Amino acid sequence: MSLDSFSLKGKVAIVTGCDAGLGQAMTVALARAGCNIVGVSRRTPDETQALVESAGRRFEAVKADLSTIEPIPFIVDEALRAFGHIDVLINNAGIIRRENALEFSEQDWDDVLDVNLKSVFFLSQAVARHCVAEQRGGKIINIASMLSFQGGIRVPSYTAAKSGLMGLTKALANEWAPHGINVNAIAPGYMATNNTAALRADKQRNADILARIPAGRWGRADDLAGPVVFLASSASDYMHGCTLAVDGGWLAR
Ligand code: NAP
Repeated sequence: MSLDSFSLKGKVAIVTGCDAGLGQAMTVALARAGCNIVGVSRRTPDETQALVESAGRRFEAVKADLSTIEPIPFIVDEALRAFGHIDVLINNAGIIRRENALEFSEQDWDDVLDVNLKSVFFLSQAVARHCVAEQRGGKIINIASMLSFQGGIRVPSYTAAKSGLMGLTKALANEWAPHGINVNAIAPGYMATNNTAALRADKQRNADILARIPAGRWGRADDLAGPVVFLASSASDYMHGCTLAVDGGWLAR
């Protein structure tokens, strides 16, 4: 095996939620490894685009709100119009709502399930249809969570979605591995992004979380760079249905 098997030169990756946090860091990592990027976001991803272009890669911005599945055909069409093919899909866009389960609203249930699970399935389906039709294989990487393994506190719809996402990763891997499509997930631990701002602002929760992380620090978005490049590259061709924890040892505790 040579280090070339980690190269993404000439590949095209769609990344949802590319404008911020983990999505931006993974986008930049993929670009530095050789990927051109179709960046999906609600806001104009100027900063991400500049970072990708300064790595010498092309960036195609696609504005889309994944709270419904309506924009999915547009995302795939735009990717194919810009680059002619799709090799990698990173299902990163996600939201969280915090409330006691006794008070939790239907809106907070539906909003989270729609973005974090429903749109992930239908975007994966649309990309897989392209990969199967073109017989060129592909890599689908879902961004799961510690709450794919654990229950969490005051985030029932998020836990349901992320636990569902780990199951979906395995279900799709079973069906699409014969087509040369690898479906895997990354489960980030507690990472310092907007998603966890409320936890870090709560002194007690912050201390409790840190005390359980063997690495002794919150994760940084860039901690996902190596794992996402690995799962997007041919170095991981025999991995199917796996959820890779990148958590500073949280789950080992
Ligand atoms: P973040 O900074 O809040 O980023 C979330 C991204 O998702 C943003 O780009 C956001 O776009 C996008 N997004 C949200 N709703 C969307 C919608 N309806 N349509 C399109 N894009 C939408 O949080 P993050 O930590 O980077 O989260 C990225 C992923 O990692 C999420 O799936 C999250 O659940 C997961 N995760 C995070 C952690 C953590 O500790 N941070 C741990 C485990 C898993 P806007 O900028 O427009 O809001």
